[in-house]
Amino acid sequence: MTSYNDAKLDTLIQDPIAEMRRTVATPEEIEALNYLQDLDLMNGAIDTQGQPIRADDKMIIRGKSDVNQLIPFKYEWAWQKYLDASANHWMPQEVAMTKDISQWKTEGELTEDERMIVMRALGFFSTADSVVMNNLTLAINEWITSPEHRQYIATQIKEESIHQHAYQYIIESLGMDQEFVFNMYRKVPSMTAKSAWCIHHTVDVSDRSKFATEDDFDRAMLKNLVSQYVVMEGIFFYCGFASVLSMGRRNKLPGTCEQFQYILRDESMHLNFGVDTYNQIKIEQPHLFTPEFNKHVRMMVISGTLLEIAFARDTAPRGILGYNASDMEDYLKFIADRRLEQLGLEVFFKVKNNPFQWMSEMMDLRKERNFFERKILDYQSSSSLSWDDF
Ligand code: FE
Repeated sequence: MTSYNDAKLDTLIQDPIAEMRRTVATPEEIEALNYLQDLDLMNGAIDTQGQPIRADDKMIIRGKSDVNQLIPFKYEWAWQKYLDASANHWMPQEVAMTKDISQWKTEGELTEDERMIVMRALGFFSTADSVVMNNLTLAINEWITSPEHRQYIATQIKEESIHQHAYQYIIESLGMDQEFVFNMYRKVPSMTAKSAWCIHHTVDVSDRSKFATEDDFDRAMLKNLVSQYVVMEGIFFYCGFASVLSMGRRNKLPGTCEQFQYILRDESMHLNFGVDTYNQIKIEQPHLFTPEFNKHVRMMVISGTLLEIAFARDTAPRGILGYNASDMEDYLKFIADRRLEQLGLEVFFKVKNNPFQWMSEMMDLRKERNFFERKILDYQSSSSLSWDDF
């Protein structure tokens, strides 16, 4: 790589505005140059005396190094997640919905319970992914000081917008009442409670004055991180995912299921990113993780799981063909304990076996080759998640 030496720096135009004043003549140009002069661009916004950043100076939070300088890398794993996520790009309209439309519009193809499950899942997800997207944009991205993490978060924000597009696309394709579905989170209490739980844990980062100390603020943000990545994306989506994907195993609504499978793949990456970020902050800022704080985080995960169980009882009180209601509750308890373990916390529900083993098989998207009626398209360029070889 070429580097500038001092001799070359000496030949640079030192004052770009003065340089342009030499040749511009119109009143508009002079006004524009005066505007530039007032901005005082060479003083303040960028530390021109600063040295190139060192990887060791980077931190996930409280970092003092320049967030606009991606390299040198410190968090290679976060960069790798950005590459993996980018390789998984997909768009909702690439998925055929013909069979779904026919099944949805034909009486007797789906039971009333199945129809309610699909609408409830869409009703919750369509708002939930928006809550996540806004929280990432307005709070988490600002709090994080590692450029590698911000790079992944930018990709995740895009994915959340694609998920919202997918729900809208399914709702429109099946001819559902859009206003009814999108407004459902206000009208179904078990759904309202979940969204409100998540919004309750968001933090207004623009006003840090209400936190007595920096530690208090960071602990509130860590709870926000857990609420979004672990509970919202790692528990609150799972009754809906498991219900709709179990219908897909019986060839019901194959296009909708394919969309959900792509979303599940994205969401499991979001969950892992959030857990890895949480655990790295634990290494970098161990003093934040007091016994009292850890106890509170464990209680948060348990409380979120109880809300998801209430939602499951409301949404599929009898289960549907393929699972019964108690299997769903055991499944939610089983994954909640896995989330607690991932955070380094003691398990709570202690369900020994995963009643939906097939869900973990769907996570890696390599098994159950003939699961969908039509062959799943290979959307991606990465060999690491190629769908051709499953
Ligand atoms: Fe997500």
